[in-house]
Amino acid sequence: MATIKPIEGRSVHQIQSGQVIVDLCSVVKELVENSLDAGATSIDVRFKNQGLDSIEVQDNGGGISPQNYETLALKHHTSKLSTYSDLTTLQTFGFRGEALSSLCALSHFSVITCLAADAPKGTKLEFEVSGKLKGTSVVAAQKGTTVIVENLFNNLPVRRQELQRNIKREWNRVIGVLGQYACIQIGIKFSVSQQAGKGKKTTLFSTKGNQSTRENIVNVFGAKTLTSLITLDLNLELEPTSGPSQRWSTQEDGEKKEIRIVGHISRPAYGEGRQTPDRQMFFVNARPCGLPQVLKAFNEVYKAYNASQSAFIFANIELDTHMYDVNVSPDKRTILLHDQNRMLENLKVALTELFESQDYTVPISQLL
Ligand code: ADP
Ligand code: MG
Repeated sequence: MATIKPIEGRSVHQIQSGQVIVDLCSVVKELVENSLDAGATSIDVRFKNQGLDSIEVQDNGGGISPQNYETLALKHHTSKLSTYSDLTTLQTFGFRGEALSSLCALSHFSVITCLAADAPKGTKLEFEVSGKLKGTSVVAAQKGTTVIVENLFNNLPVRRQELQRNIKREWNRVIGVLGQYACIQIGIKFSVSQQAGKGKKTTLFSTKGNQSTRENIVNVFGAKTLTSLITLDLNLELEPTSGPSQRWSTQEDGEKKEIRIVGHISRPAYGEGRQTPDRQMFFVNARPCGLPQVLKAFNEVYKAYNASQSAFIFANIELDTHMYDVNVSPDKRTILLHDQNRMLENLKVALTELFESQDYTVPISQLL
C-alpha cells in the first residue's frame, strides 16, 4: 500500500497556480484588474508575439511602496481583503492575493514600480519561482507600475504547447476581453499594442479616457457599430419571497430587490450578420464576466424579432454586492447571481417591453 504523505510545497504551489492562471486571457485580466485597483487612469498593454514572448501591462496608478516589495508576490498576500466577511462588500477586482504569486510559478516574472515622489527613479523587482523577492535595482520610471510576464508556462510544457497551438483563438479572446474593460471603464485610457517578431509595434485599439461607454465603444469597435444601437436601461424589481426559500438572507426581510441593467443593444431589425462572442458583453457592477444564462435570455428575446441575426449586446448589471458571489472559481469569471431564475424572467419581460415600446423594429435604413 502506498503511504499518504503531503505534496511537497513547491509542487502544491505549481498545481494551484495553474488553476489561477489558466491561459493568456487570465494573465491579461489579472494584470489589468490590478492596475484598475491601483487607481490607474491610463493602462498600456503590450504584447510580443501575441503574448507568447511577453505581456507587459503598464499603469500610472499609485505604485508599490518599498515595505510591500517582499510580500508582493507571496501567495495569499493582498492589500485588498483581510477577513472573509469583507468579501460581501468587495469593491476591488482582486481579493485572493494569488495572481502575482501564480505568475512567478508559471513564467519569468518582474515588476517595475515607482511612487510619485520618486519619479523619474523607479525600482525593478525580480522574483523567485516561489514568489520570494530575489533582488531589486534602480531603473528609470514614471509614477505607476509595469508588470512583465515573459515565457508564460515555460515550466508547464503541455500547457505551453497547447497555448502555441491555439494561439489564434486565444488571441481573439484576449483582445475581446481587453475590449470589454476598455468599453466599461469610464475616464480610463486604454492602449493595446502588439509586436510580431522584430517587426513594428502596431496599436490594436486605444480609448481616450472618455466619459461615456458610447464613446468607448466607438474607440474600440468603430463609429459604425453605434448606428445600430439603442440604449438599454432595464429596471427589474424583484418582489420579496417568503418562507424557507428566502434567499436574500443578508438583506432585510420583505425588502424589494432592485436590479438595473444598463448599456447598449442592437435594434431588433438591425444587425451585421452573426455577432461574434466578443460583441456580446456582460458585466456585473462593471466586472466583465461570463453569464451564459443571461446571454441566453437576451438572445431568446432578440430572436423573436430577428431570427437571422444576433445582437450586439453591452449590458452592465448593477446590483447590491450582497446579491452575487464572485468567489466561485479562482479566475472569478463565474459569478453566482442569487435568485437568477426570477431575475431572468423579469429581464425577458423588460427587454420585450423595450423592443415593443418604440418602433425599433423598423430597419434603420427606413428611419434615416
Ligand atoms: P490581489 O489583486 O488579489 O490582491 P495579486 O496577486 O493580483 O492579488 O496582487 C497582490 C498585491 O500586489 C495587490 O494586493 C496589490 O497591493 C499589489 N499590486 C499588484 N499589482 C499592482 C499594481 N499594478 N499597482 C500597485 N499595486 C499592485
Ligand atoms: Mg489581483
